[in-house]
Amino acid sequence: MDNELEPIVRIRQLKRDRVNFVLENVDLAFANSLRRVMMADLPTVAIDMVEVEMNTTMLPDEFIAHRLGMIPLVSANCDEAMRYTRDCTCTSTSCAYCAIVLKLDVTCSDPVTMDVTSNHLEILPIQDYDEHEGGEELTKRSQDFGLPVGKNQPNVPPILICKIRKGQELKVRCIARKGIAKEHAKWSPCSAVAFEYDPYNKLRHTSYWFEENERDEWPVGENGKEEEPPRDDEAFDFNAKPRKFYFEVETDGSLGPQEVVMKGLQELQKKLANLILGLKSQPEVDLLTAGDQGMDHSVPATNNWGDAGNAGAAPAGGSGGGWGGASSAWGGSTSPRTGGGGWGGSPGSGGATSAWGGASQSAGWGSPSQQANGWNV
Ligand SMILES: [Zn+2]
Repeated sequence: MDNELEPIVRIRQLKRDRVNFVLENVDLAFANSLRRVMMADLPTVAIDMVEVEMNTTMLPDEFIAHRLGMIPLVSANCDEAMRYTRDCTCTSTSCAYCAIVLKLDVTCSDPVTMDVTSNHLEILPIQDYDEHEGGEELTKRSQDFGLPVGKNQPNVPPILICKIRKGQELKVRCIARKGIAKEHAKWSPCSAVAFEYDPYNKLRHTSYWFEENERDEWPVGENGKEEEPPRDDEAFDFNAKPRKFYFEVETDGSLGPQEVVMKGLQELQKKLANLILGLKSQPEVDLLTAGDQGMDHSVPATNNWGDAGNAGAAPAGGSGGGWGGASSAWGGSTSPRTGGGGWGGSPGSGGATSAWGGASQSAGWGSPSQQANGWNV
């Protein structure tokens, strides 16, 4: 019965760098996919190459380069505002569309210890780039795009890079690039993403292993208030499945929490759409992509998986139906399971999309692309 319900998102708390929300009517695999996508698949900007001109500090060059890489840089709207260097048309190692150049030039001339911090990092103005070369990426950047998060904001302490004494100097040029955390954790927009389910342990996770007291070792937290406590004589429901997840998403400031969640869902949709596209035969792909706006054309659409994958899949329900772009994904079910009709039959009228949209708007979530810097809470 539960399987027929549409997903619901209820936001419990939204702050500048975190959001706490309840996700209902999805299965565990979906909740975990969302968690993983938010942590590891959303692009941000981070320092990727450091040219050391002068370093007479205590710390070796590589130590400082590593620290610089870990500094979160403002990356709002990064998926549209910047290119991956590997996709860029530039012939050198970087250009205005695929890189941001920062410099750090600090010398201590006082007889006291001085802190070199992220506040000393400055963006070098964009120089000679070919306007005809391409895209509108530059217009999609906010003013502070690429600057260290919280730079020169009085209530945000800067990040310490190293300490220097009189006569010591650090002068470096840094090239920041777009990337995702699957490649290196420095590109993750999140410092923590967690979810809890089943606060009363009705699913009996600890039955096979506990130290002394099964109940004490699964303490009921705040989320217990959201659910009915089980009666002592309640029989174990061995068919029960988790359907309600309590999420806490905390970002490092490079992206706002709204953007992380909304773009996480977008990214997940795109991955599923690409998977389904990959399972289709070439004539079906041609039909689907002919009038398509939302699908990523760069993904190889050929069916490399052999015909076995297609044997059970019904042709898309009319050429106009089916996927029609990633925006109408999923239809009524929470995950695209193969029903009797196979993959082709499940995408329906876009019920899931409207569910997300409706839930988020009523709670005051703007479209993530609308916000300039992701901090407007
Ligand atoms: Zn480039």
